[in-house]
Amino acid sequence: MSDLLQRLRGRGWRMTAQRRVVAEVLAGEHVHLTADEVLAQAALRLPEISRATVYNTLGELVLLGEVIEVATDGRAKRYDPNAHRPHQHLVCSGCGAIRDVHPVGDPLTDLPPSERYGFTVSAAEVTYRGWCPECVAA
Ligand SMILES: [Zn+2]
Ligand SMILES: [Zn+2]
Repeated sequence: MSDLLQRLRGRGWRMTAQRRVVAEVLAGEHVHLTADEVLAQAALRLPEISRATVYNTLGELVLLGEVIEVATDGRAKRYDPNAHRPHQHLVCSGCGAIRDVHPVGDPLTDLPPSERYGFTVSAAEVTYRGWCPECVAA
């Protein structure tokens, strides 16, 4: 069972076959799928699943804080089930591959007070860009 599915069971999330399939697709490490990719994979397991259900379920999982929305410039939003371990993203400029990374130090505390303009800062997103080994080799 995926971590996400386990967490959702734990919090008593109303489980239907369609919602379960969406949660099952969002399993594993370094998972950052667009809504359409979630739909395509979910449909392999449950052909009758509807686009609306997939989109609604993703929205609900984001509201619950169990899935994070990742915006990668210009490309479609991605959904990341690694919602409970703070991490940043390493993105390939060639193929768009995304890895979860854990920089040494906390980007949130790295911002000095003089650069906060009085804001109460609650989150930081850092995107590291470069070329993955496959794209370098190609
Ligand atoms: Zn690449
Ligand atoms: Zn991630």
